[in-house]
Amino acid sequence: MADLLSSLINQNLVDLKPYESARRLFSGGQDWLNANESPYANSYQVDSDRFNRYPSCQPEAVVSAYAQYAGVKTSELIVTRGADEGIELLIRTFCTPGEDNILICPPTYGMYAISAETCNIGIKKAPLKTDFSLDVDAICATDDVNLVFICAPNNPTGTTVDAADLTRVLEHFADSALVVVDEAYIEFDKQNSWADKLAQYPNLVILRTLSKAFALAGLRCGFTLANRNVIDALMKVIAPYPIPEPVAQIAEQALSHEGKTQVELQVDFINREKQVLADALSELGDIELVGDTRANFVLFKTAQSEQLMEYLVSQGMLIRDQSKQMNLQHCLRATVGNEEQNLRLRKLITEFFNQSGASA
Ligand SMILES: *Cc1c(COP(=O)(O)O)cnc(C)c1O
Repeated sequence: MADLLSSLINQNLVDLKPYESARRLFSGGQDWLNANESPYANSYQVDSDRFNRYPSCQPEAVVSAYAQYAGVKTSELIVTRGADEGIELLIRTFCTPGEDNILICPPTYGMYAISAETCNIGIKKAPLKTDFSLDVDAICATDDVNLVFICAPNNPTGTTVDAADLTRVLEHFADSALVVVDEAYIEFDKQNSWADKLAQYPNLVILRTLSKAFALAGLRCGFTLANRNVIDALMKVIAPYPIPEPVAQIAEQALSHEGKTQVELQVDFINREKQVLADALSELGDIELVGDTRANFVLFKTAQSEQLMEYLVSQGMLIRDQSKQMNLQHCLRATVGNEEQNLRLRKLITEFFNQSGASA
């Protein structure tokens, strides 16, 4: 059997390992501050009357509600199984396996590279500068790429991109590549969205999701915004029934007036808690804040990152180790949770440093 599989398997998959998602790394624990999820679990109604029918490929109510929310036309949007499916669709639609490349700017979100690898697409890198701004010269010096992935606010640095930098990138690649701006965290940094620039830049693509500010990571619902010709091409590749009926129903409720108002209140709360957490951490002598706090998490550095991580895990407090990412040695990322969780996190970190200080 092993011989059979190794003779059959797609050769470019042999060396790949499954993505170490937060949920796969740790299944126990009590406080999950490792996946940038919302601390809120909002409630929804589901109507089973139509469950015997295949769902609409692109549920109209969700398409029009999100188009209105994002300020784009309904023809400029496709609903996907999370933003992750949007990433994969873009790669499958606009890159030819074994020939084409994408460009990424690490440290950044891991799924761009993973999707490219599983599709046998090459990965070129133009690392962020030491202040985590785009290295525009390095980006523009990279040729032979079909897609350029830029995450803003960036996961895991929490930084946004300079508008003049992104403009240069969009213009440089106007005739050669699509520039994909991943706005998974845009609700926490609203004024920096590029959604109103689609008409100006035909090669601009924007990724969105209900997983973060909308508190629906379990729903698996995301959106790709782009000019109509890009969306029409993605429609050729997407599955016939990608959005389950219950997902469409819940997404529609989340995008109602009440749903959006609730998200705004929750984002305001998370942004305030984030500031409190960041201030408290920065006052601990052994911790240095890293990057910026434009998303729903705080990134920080400590010489004892490994021991601190171990201590927090032993206490059921799960945050995410980012120390293996490019230029993020000794860095940990903590998602902003509810008030109680944030307090507990601060208390545990303070305790850890008191103990290690006493024994040093
Ligand atoms: C969480 C995240 C996503 C994935 O969103 P889903 O809609 O849950 O697939 C995409 N991009 C970034 C930067 C993220 O942090």
